[in-house]
Amino acid sequence: MTVKFQGDSKNTDPSITKIDAIIVGAGFGGMYMLHSLNKLGLKAIILEEANGVGGTWYWNRYPGARCDIPSIEYSYSFSDELQQEWEWSHRYSTQPEILEYANHVADRFELKEHIRFNERVISAEYVENSKIWKLHTSSGNMYQSKYCVMATGSLSSINKPKFEGIDSYNGDWYITGKWPHEKIDLSGKSVGIIGTGSSAVQAIPILAENSKTLTVFQRTANYSIPANNRSLDSEEVRYVKDNYSSIREKQRKGKGGVAFSNIGLKSALEVSHEERLKEYQKRWDKGYVGFISAYTDIGTNEDANETAAEFVRSKIREIVKNPNTAELLSPKNAIGCKRLCADTNYFETYNRDNVSLIDVNETPIESLVPDGVKTTEKTFDLDVVVFAIGFDAMTGALLGIDIKGKNGMKLRDKWSDGPRSYLGLTVEGFPNMFTITGPGSPSVLGNMMVAIEQHVEWITKCIQDMEADGKNEIEPEFTAENKWMDHIEEVANQTLRYSCNSWYVGANVPGKKRVFMPYVGGYDVYRKKCNEISTNGYQGFLRI
Ligand code: NAP
Repeated sequence: MTVKFQGDSKNTDPSITKIDAIIVGAGFGGMYMLHSLNKLGLKAIILEEANGVGGTWYWNRYPGARCDIPSIEYSYSFSDELQQEWEWSHRYSTQPEILEYANHVADRFELKEHIRFNERVISAEYVENSKIWKLHTSSGNMYQSKYCVMATGSLSSINKPKFEGIDSYNGDWYITGKWPHEKIDLSGKSVGIIGTGSSAVQAIPILAENSKTLTVFQRTANYSIPANNRSLDSEEVRYVKDNYSSIREKQRKGKGGVAFSNIGLKSALEVSHEERLKEYQKRWDKGYVGFISAYTDIGTNEDANETAAEFVRSKIREIVKNPNTAELLSPKNAIGCKRLCADTNYFETYNRDNVSLIDVNETPIESLVPDGVKTTEKTFDLDVVVFAIGFDAMTGALLGIDIKGKNGMKLRDKWSDGPRSYLGLTVEGFPNMFTITGPGSPSVLGNMMVAIEQHVEWITKCIQDMEADGKNEIEPEFTAENKWMDHIEEVANQTLRYSCNSWYVGANVPGKKRVFMPYVGGYDVYRKKCNEISTNGYQGFLRI
């Protein structure tokens, strides 16, 4: 396919790379996008800040990092050869194995030759009269393209630690989301970790094993379900490989993109206390995936939610020997309001003699000082501080780039009251720009790989139709975008999602507008909607 590329034909500057499509980011979204556009016959490249593929799995090398969706499902489905030849070792694979898979995919589909590594995009500007995107990178290079696909990730831009006195601290400090490549020796060291979200819940048991002491600074207790991780046996792998097509079909038709989640069909309130306990215990023993979907109304009804929440609290009390620590570790908010964590020996770790838990609600962190962390109560002498304080989720990576659309409108200004998009795929005023798993799409609320594949396939078809129809520009209508935003809000309000301070609403980043960013209506509903829109001549879009 030859792209009808308007371009800046007078510009013959050899330092400017002109290409049909530029993809920003070489994570799982960017890599599949590149492969799909290559297959379509477009000339496309990826600009990637890192020195390798993998996106969030490139950066998040902290001890214990793993996926929380079973690996046989947290993998690409687009190539049967790929899924037949690749062997996952564990139910939930480690970060190194996931990164190895990303590299395998990049090599197998010869993607690396189209990826410019160590290229951090600093600005992207739409030039209206020539209908091209102009991108600048921090190394001073310039790129032009008709299409610009932002595959920048939802959980990729770290929430930077802004603690007072951080520069005065004499010890070593690390951020889970930007962990060093070399092994860090913690033996004999006093370590502190700030945060108790999914990253910390995975890291804490391993940090505790490898350090002299571990002090955990907790602001909000989190629900966590044992992952029950284990190696996969050959019979199980054979079954999955023989049945991959039906498993993938089930993922695509499911609410959260997970085939083996065993979604309950009853209300938690229509069964007896004993029956509920039996069901929760069964799912607890099975491990993580599926716990929250035991009943239809855990996510929507406070009383139903409390039954699952109290079950987890009772488990915490059972596991953690010190009742005060158990109480501190017991979350008070609705279960599933924040992303549920998956762990291996998380609560058990608090029974170790070298681990202590500090409630920073009670005694807030005032600052970092030369010797460690100072709370309102005392100074904790620490050789190492680990910041596990999460991400500027969904919008951080996009707004980290100075994106300018029509009439010089900046995305930062358009999104100053929270992100706005049509389907989480496109933004009014920013023609020919697509976002993969952007705010307004279901993305982070389930299996990201399924979300990524659906987005990439929709965008590919959209570009193919643009070229087949001889169009130069596509962007959503203002009214369509507004209607989608109202719909996102309406469905979010039918759930308990607004009832706590999660990163879904941007609450973890000081000053960020409180808006529920992903679409909670379900992957299945969303996919149907996207398909209807494209089949019906791209309803809600202006194509010229
Ligand atoms: P997170 O869930 O946002 O957790 C950050 C933690 O840091 C929270 O406990 C937060 O407390 C705390 N925190 C933030 N700022 C703080 C401050 N100034 N002082 C004290 N505490 C502070 O981040 P995350 O653990 O990196 O996980 C983010 C998401 O990434 C997850 O929800 C998940 O979707 C994904 N993830 C997945 C896996 C996996 O299992 N595959 C692993 C890691 C991450 P508050 O709760 O009070 O804000």
